[in-house]
Amino acid sequence: MSVTASPPAVRSFCITRSAKIVSRPRVVMAVRSNTISAASILTKLQKDCATPLPVLRHVSDAMADDMRAGLATEDGSDLKMILSYVDALPTGNEKGLFYALDLGGTNFRVLRVQLGGKEERVISTEFEQVSIPPELMFGTSEELFDFIASGLAKFAQKEGGKFHLQQGRTRETGFTFSFPVKQTSIDSGILIKWTKGFAVSGTAGKDVVACLNEAMKRQELDMRVSALVNDAVGTLAGARYWDDDVMVAVILGTGTNACYVERIDAIPKLQGPSSKSGRTIVNTEWGAFSNGLPLTEFDREMDAESINPHEQIFEKTISGMYLGEIVRRVLLRMAEGAELFGHSVPEELLMPFALRTPDICAMQQDTSKDLEEVGLILYDVVGVNSCTNARKVVIDVCDTIAKRGGRLAGAGIVGILQKMEHNSKGLIFGKRTVVAMDGGLYEHYPQYRRYLQEAVTELLGPEISRNIVIEHSKDGSGIGAALLAATNSKYGHDF
Ligand code: ADP
Ligand code: MG
Repeated sequence: MSVTASPPAVRSFCITRSAKIVSRPRVVMAVRSNTISAASILTKLQKDCATPLPVLRHVSDAMADDMRAGLATEDGSDLKMILSYVDALPTGNEKGLFYALDLGGTNFRVLRVQLGGKEERVISTEFEQVSIPPELMFGTSEELFDFIASGLAKFAQKEGGKFHLQQGRTRETGFTFSFPVKQTSIDSGILIKWTKGFAVSGTAGKDVVACLNEAMKRQELDMRVSALVNDAVGTLAGARYWDDDVMVAVILGTGTNACYVERIDAIPKLQGPSSKSGRTIVNTEWGAFSNGLPLTEFDREMDAESINPHEQIFEKTISGMYLGEIVRRVLLRMAEGAELFGHSVPEELLMPFALRTPDICAMQQDTSKDLEEVGLILYDVVGVNSCTNARKVVIDVCDTIAKRGGRLAGAGIVGILQKMEHNSKGLIFGKRTVVAMDGGLYEHYPQYRRYLQEAVTELLGPEISRNIVIEHSKDGSGIGAALLAATNSKYGHDF
């Protein structure tokens, strides 16, 4: 690294967004070398991240091929193509009180819903969100599940008003667990591995429903898990409740995943009894896709230093946990090698994950001439003093990374649609098809969303893409898990 430590420097100026950082002392590192220009680093970055149509086409074709390989045999592909055991989607007839618990990556949410059948639909919902203390991401399985179960218990205690459980019943919950799980039935599944920065000991290889049940028992919470689903599956179920044309669901949040409705006879690896409907939801675990992605030295370095090197490469290129970090690495290179922010590099810029995706998103929303907001964010978050020209370069870096992510996500979606259409001609491209989207990245990053849509339109052409509706299904996964708890209730759901 081309930096040397210099004595701590105190900055006197105080443009701030929040009181807590008023003229806080910052340690800076002096830049030693200045051999390349920021413009040349940017040009190379843009070249390495470029996603022209042939690259997109390669990605969507490879996605479809990898899906087929993953359906053919266990471990036949980067894509696990996990069977969800969800072969009955909500119909609208579901009635009663159901809970859902959603463990994502950044937050966990608890939710209850009172369902009133076809006429009344969703009578009432309530939810709470708790952020996951970082230390629990590296703790033991018991600690994490105790934290979750106690959050759920506290929430359940506040039940009242329009929510009521039918007499003689035990409360039932759907459990949205957004990590790769080998599902063994609708209400059990073995954790394959943690992703998204989690490294909890003692869970891999265990049934996560059993882990939750044991924790609920320790919390003296009388509740039963009747459906274990992944966030993508939950989103598909939640969106399908309102719209029969929903065939695919995609999550773009801390991590990423996608699932879709597949024909049983297109799953050669499936053994045992097949579903009544002849269809099932397949969870692709597409975050593990890696074929033909345009990667840069920054991606490779981030991957090498991650807790899961060589894994989840698609996720590391397109999802919220990583976009800000890739940008930080580029800016650090520009600061060290090209003095983008003057003669010194603030220590904060050296900190992995100091710049988050919401920060780069916020910077991209600044349309002012001097990019004042960009300057404030750079100062607040990574301790950088910047001139307008440097801010422009920063915006270009953010845009390059968001554009690549959004366009590759779009190509992945087209890969899924192509695979479905190839199996059943006319199923997708001959009629209206809805792709339900959820996750904080998709919800809050307008440029990313636009790039994603553009790639889908480019790949499919204007005619076919008019029939493909890519739609935000807000918090669909929570409601979806509760709906699947209802569909899979031990009390049945036809009342
Ligand atoms: P999870 O994936 O943990 O279930 P969310 O779906 O809420 O949770 O996604 C949270 C992620 O979304 C954050 O980690 C972040 O990467 C991304 N995100 C949140 N807010 C924004 C924003 N304003 N702009 C861009 N990305 C955002
Ligand atoms: Mg989530």
